[in-house]
Amino acid sequence: MAKLIKRPEEALKEHFGFDGFLDGQDAVVEEILTGRDGLVVMPTGGGKSLCYQLPALCLDGVTLVISPLIALMKDQVDALQAKGVAATLINSTLSQSEQMDRLDGMRRGDYKLVYVAPERFRAGSFCRALESVTIAMVAVDEAHCLSQWGHDFRPDYMRLGQAFKAIGQPQCVALTATATPVVRADILKVLDLRDPFEQVSGFARPNLSLTIRPTEKASQKFARVREIVEKHKTGIVYCATRKKVDEVADMLKDWGVRCIAYHGGLSPQERERTQNIFIERQADVAVATNAFGMGIDRSDVRFVVHFEIPGSVEAYYQEAGRAGRDGEASVCELLFNYADTRTQEFFIEGANPSPEVIRQVYQHLLNHSDGDYEMRQTLQDMAEAVGLKNSMALGSCLIILARNRYIERFDIPGSRTRGTRLLRPQVMTSQLEIDWAALEAKEERDRDKLKAMIDLCYGEECRQQAIMAYFGEENSEPCGTCDQCKGGDHGKRRAGTDEEELILRKALSGVARMSRSEAGTWVGVFGKGKIVQMLLGSRSEAVLSAKLDRLSTYGLLKECGSAYVNQLFRAMSKAGLIKTERRDQYPLLTLTERGAKVMLGKASVELDWPSRRESGLKEDDDGSGPELTELGFEVELFNRLKALRSEISEKQGVPAYVIFNNQVLENLTRLRPRTRAAGMRIKGIGEAKADQFLDVFLAEIRRYQG
Ligand code: ADP
Ligand code: ZN
Repeated sequence: MAKLIKRPEEALKEHFGFDGFLDGQDAVVEEILTGRDGLVVMPTGGGKSLCYQLPALCLDGVTLVISPLIALMKDQVDALQAKGVAATLINSTLSQSEQMDRLDGMRRGDYKLVYVAPERFRAGSFCRALESVTIAMVAVDEAHCLSQWGHDFRPDYMRLGQAFKAIGQPQCVALTATATPVVRADILKVLDLRDPFEQVSGFARPNLSLTIRPTEKASQKFARVREIVEKHKTGIVYCATRKKVDEVADMLKDWGVRCIAYHGGLSPQERERTQNIFIERQADVAVATNAFGMGIDRSDVRFVVHFEIPGSVEAYYQEAGRAGRDGEASVCELLFNYADTRTQEFFIEGANPSPEVIRQVYQHLLNHSDGDYEMRQTLQDMAEAVGLKNSMALGSCLIILARNRYIERFDIPGSRTRGTRLLRPQVMTSQLEIDWAALEAKEERDRDKLKAMIDLCYGEECRQQAIMAYFGEENSEPCGTCDQCKGGDHGKRRAGTDEEELILRKALSGVARMSRSEAGTWVGVFGKGKIVQMLLGSRSEAVLSAKLDRLSTYGLLKECGSAYVNQLFRAMSKAGLIKTERRDQYPLLTLTERGAKVMLGKASVELDWPSRRESGLKEDDDGSGPELTELGFEVELFNRLKALRSEISEKQGVPAYVIFNNQVLENLTRLRPRTRAAGMRIKGIGEAKADQFLDVFLAEIRRYQG
């Protein structure tokens, strides 16, 4: 481990001029200074750079920063130099001799921070030169680039793990803003981090109040937009399509609202002009597709409305996050209608053309390019010629073909249409070599992302917490301001008793038993009804025909009664332990990641536990009466009590239910009272019934217990 040459507080004041740390930075710096490898996930703007720059100044030796974008590298280095930090960069913009000079400088200890592009490690000479340098640590910025599951995969990042081994595996810290569990797992694996700390922080936006409102009709949505605009005045309305943008913008103009309409169909000049109107505050509302917002720097956005569901939680949170940049309270509202998911599916189809379609497009290019292997058809015309309804799919085909170096696109002077040129016209359609499996995996990923977004909409737990959990930030507190927190049951939650915890874990194992586990995540197979029936040991046709009575969890909660178990499932869902996924409109229930942890006893939870009222005891029972404990439901005892009831019924000529109804017999079976007083705590056994019948039943129970 590298030697400490300076205290972090000192370096913070000396070079950065900050008064303190941003959320999570101090924890990361502390971990790094103990010499551990680690993974840091913070949203863009969260202050990731400081997390490695500060330790770099405190450690003896040089810190290598791997950064994917050469342009950003220069900015970072310039900024550091301006702060008096000895920093430099090595990338392909430098001549060979300049690179050598800087490597010499590193050896002499001239630099504290050196930014390098990942491609550098391809060169053996570079790695060998590093052998004689004292490396304090390596920081891998934008680490998601090494994952094929991330949004901008770079093959050179994949090789970093190997490269670090070759230079003696120095301490390594990876940083990224993209934190889905798969990507995180990939980072740990590819970089082979040793006993790493993982720190996810800064995603919470406490000043945003999130609402997801179920809506049925467009008129409802318009009415709601109007209310929000009137109340909060400045904001953004995101729509899924250009058509909807125009429709909503027209409506707002009718109401006299100053607004702009922004979408990808505008020319670059029009986009810029429109955007500036909003930034310069000459309009109060921007109605836009997701093309809007990249460079939006207007801090007083008081609301963000999503007119339709976006395609992923990442997109949703990024767009919603454009509200309240100034830290003031702001509202985000998604107007949810399941039917709108169809639009997103259409986008997924457009972004992920099938191999057949890609081959068709390629064949079309082969057939119709000119003598120079060029084609100048517009996308529209080309799509029509190939017979594609989704012209977005055509664009995706061209991107895929270009990425695989079969074609390139070129600008046609004086035209907005771009041309297409075949690079290897001798390759026939049947000879195309494209990583089809990777394309398929990407499509699946897109679908999973949409599914997670739909889950969020149907979820009943705190919205912030659900989003934090999605990004991997655990143990976040309920936000207190989202629709679920305001309308939910958080006030009633408490930790469970040992007995309740046991019941909860049985219920969760039942859900697990009736789900599938795929690569560590749970996938629903059955609806809630069946799962509850299974746990209650139901003998219904549906349960028996599915052979659910053969599961080890069958009847595990029989003693709790159906009202209790149903209420428990509601509470579990609200606490985010179980979730409903829709497949072909069928709601299927399964465990969440958190639910799986609670099941295994690896996490605790506070629930709105079902009341004792559902337990079969009298409502005013305060638990202080003679001892009554759950002893489990035994069918044999139940049958014996039933037989006894028939006997009495026959003897005395009264209907069976007048003696004790089935519910009472069930409760007698599982609670097995030993005294009259204990028996009378059971709902449905009053003085009169106790006088008439209780003694014989108690006697039968005693006989059964031997
Ligand atoms: P990221 O790389 O996570 O997107 P940056 O490292 O660029 O974020 O930091 C975002 C902004 O926050 C920068 O303007 C930076 O100067 C500022 N910043 C970082 N750390 C602190 C701090 N401790 N106090 C105040 N501002 C900070
Ligand atoms: Zn909340």
